[in-house]
Amino acid sequence: MFEKCEAIVLRTIDYGETNKIVTLFTREWGKVAAMARGAKKPSSRLSAVTQPFTYGHYLIQKSRGIGVLHQGEVVDTMRAIRENIFTTAYASYIVELTDKVTEEQRRNPYLFELLLQTLKYMNDGLDLEILMYIYEMKMLSVMGLPPTLDRCAVCGRTEGKFSFSIKEGGFLCHRCEQKDPHRLPLSPAAVKLLRLFYYLDLSRLGKISVKDETKKELHHVISAYYEEYSGLMLKTKRFLTQMEQLKHHLQ
Ligand SMILES: [Zn+2]
Repeated sequence: MFEKCEAIVLRTIDYGETNKIVTLFTREWGKVAAMARGAKKPSSRLSAVTQPFTYGHYLIQKSRGIGVLHQGEVVDTMRAIRENIFTTAYASYIVELTDKVTEEQRRNPYLFELLLQTLKYMNDGLDLEILMYIYEMKMLSVMGLPPTLDRCAVCGRTEGKFSFSIKEGGFLCHRCEQKDPHRLPLSPAAVKLLRLFYYLDLSRLGKISVKDETKKELHHVISAYYEEYSGLMLKTKRFLTQMEQLKHHLQ
């Protein structure tokens, strides 16, 4: 029996001479893999609908193992993402992160919406770095690694000057500084943004402009937190870092 779903293409691998196995993140069932017969041939009707980042409607014959992709209809090709190497690098990281932290057939409409909205914003040309930080912050709750951002992680006070403690898993107020000599200092702007990114409803994201120094602080805190707690080593993240270094070198 074929079933309809709404999905984003996370990745594909070649299978045999002409086939592809496509991994889709669906709104209905979470992550599923399906065989796309003939999709390697450019003339195949399944070729376009199985390109990475594509968002569309798909008809899949589900089975206990790998399903069969019968047909697809593109809603958004996310073309601008694929046309720019920097945008591709950021989007690839977001997609790999999603792939790595999700299990097959586990429905998560919230995460589906978050991924779709983030890719759309990237496709529309919004600030890639900011979108990545927002996504990374929001993924922490999906991964079950929520940081303490609404109060001091040690004393619970909500007022004060805050730094970030990796060890305590969140903000540290000035009264509790001595609890962590390795705390990361934060400007008030960075404190505000870390909170905003974590709690913000992404569909309500307006125009956002962040200074380079503040972006560096965000990068520092988020990377350190991921390194300590996520256990992830993503090749797209390494590639992204190299791309960023290249960009700074060229400027
Ligand atoms: Zn405190």
